[in-house]
Amino acid sequence: MQDSDTIFDKILARQIPAAIVYEDNDVLAFKDIQPQAKIHVLVIPKRRATNLNDLKNQPASNLGAFMIGVAKAAEHLGLVEGGYRVVLNSGANAGQTVFYVHAHILGGEPLGTFGI
Ligand code: 5GP
Repeated sequence: MQDSDTIFDKILARQIPAAIVYEDNDVLAFKDIQPQAKIHVLVIPKRRATNLNDLKNQPASNLGAFMIGVAKAAEHLGLVEGGYRVVLNSGANAGQTVFYVHAHILGGEPLGTFGI
């Protein structure tokens, strides 16, 4: 499998469906198929990277645009007042299973001291 063949590449290309909740020029956000909280949304940057280690090799503005997109998605989901958690799993020990960098947004209810 090529890096660019991940399920999230296909969601971004609209080759497979996803419950998209937010999109702008920099990011796409869609519901996780196995939610770990009342609201569990994944945010991917439109400029692909495998994970955070890979993203650090891109211009810092790409990382900034990604994080701003995460915050905008959370705001769009109505999570700002109640609060939310953002998780980025990078590599095997973190349990990364999809090798297209993605931020988990978890919220909509009180979360445990450590969620996913
Ligand atoms: P990771 O463990 O790599 O940080 O998280 C990958 C996440 O992607 C998991 O929470 C998993 O439920 C989610 N996921 C895996 N396949 C799909 C899919 O086809 N569609 C959506 N919407 N989420 C997926």
